[in-house]
Amino acid sequence: MFFRCVKAINDNERIFRRGYEASGDMSITMQRVYNFSAGPSMLPLEVLEKVQAEMLCYEESGMSVMELNQKSDKFTEIMESAETSLRKLMNIPSNYKVLFMQGGATTQFSAVPLNLLSDHKCADYIISGPFSDDAAKEAKKYGDIVFAASSAGATPAYSVIPATARSDFRPDADYVHICFNNTIHGTKFYYIPDTGNIPLVADVSSCILSEPIDVSKFGLLYASSQMNIAPAGLTVVIVREDLIGNARPDTPSMLNYKHIADSKSLCNTPPFFAIYMANLVFDWILSIGGLEEMKRRNERKASLLYDYLDSQKYYTASVDKKCRSMMNVVFSTGNAALDRKFVEEANAIGLKNLAGHSTIDGLRASIYNAMPYEGVEKLVAFMKKFLIENPKL
Ligand code: PMP
Repeated sequence: MFFRCVKAINDNERIFRRGYEASGDMSITMQRVYNFSAGPSMLPLEVLEKVQAEMLCYEESGMSVMELNQKSDKFTEIMESAETSLRKLMNIPSNYKVLFMQGGATTQFSAVPLNLLSDHKCADYIISGPFSDDAAKEAKKYGDIVFAASSAGATPAYSVIPATARSDFRPDADYVHICFNNTIHGTKFYYIPDTGNIPLVADVSSCILSEPIDVSKFGLLYASSQMNIAPAGLTVVIVREDLIGNARPDTPSMLNYKHIADSKSLCNTPPFFAIYMANLVFDWILSIGGLEEMKRRNERKASLLYDYLDSQKYYTASVDKKCRSMMNVVFSTGNAALDRKFVEEANAIGLKNLAGHSTIDGLRASIYNAMPYEGVEKLVAFMKKFLIENPKL
């Protein structure tokens, strides 16, 4: 079975025909959709097209990227290019290492305490959603962990980002951990906590590369790839050099930042395809103008949706306005049956994966970097139509 692009309507909507190579039957037509999934999410179409073009033969290697040897010059070039482009995009200072790891952000929930709970074996966590809660639970296996602040008790739970002051953190904490953008509840830190000399660690899985971020304000940043970087499989860790080298003796080698840094992220077989695609995505962002331009585009998309939500009463968006995520827009009709109908009808017209996270239900539109503006326009048009066709009794 194969897909062939036969006609381009606009940047995102391309008609594909699926047929059977043997019979030459090209009768089934498919169209690319707008995928509002929280992750894995949309990838830039330009990148997918380049991947398609290079799939069978990468440059003059005579083989696909997936078949390259990890010690080959070609693969080394890709790894180096990915790191160079990421450093340029995020303006990463030279005293930070970029590590390409595996196991997702979830594995960093363990790797962070294993590597960083070095001096006093205690760390403070700001709890702003289930992912920061999960990170704290994992860290508790290795040290004395306290919640410096939490929005679990807000109404609704996690609808705000807790405000903090330097005095909220224990002076002997080895680090303070936050989840910068909360994928499930649709909130984002509107400030960088002032932790004084205590290294600040941030899970930036669902907001990395969406806008500029001052890396020097953090001791460590980590992100899964499947939102704004590449397909799933790669975990990017950006860590200040002085925080490397003090891991607990029983830290598995594959989670030890020093081991990974010393081997230039090649201590075992790396996730080639994800790194190759990350390199293409980084280049794509550089080509459109870097993170300032990415931010401009993301703000434009998010404003379109939030402005509409604020202009009517049918849908509610309960997140505190100053904490709204630019990537994950959480809303609801306020009626579970209507929410389900919304998801089904949107799905039928190519607006996919709009159901909220299973733990909170409702609706969620994830509008990561690769979501085109037209996707959000179509969503808002659908919301307006749905509201008229489904009055609340
Ligand atoms: N942190 C955040 C903020 C996330 O959004 C996710 C997944 N969506 C995770 C952690 C877990 O990532 P993974 O499944 O790649 O381990």
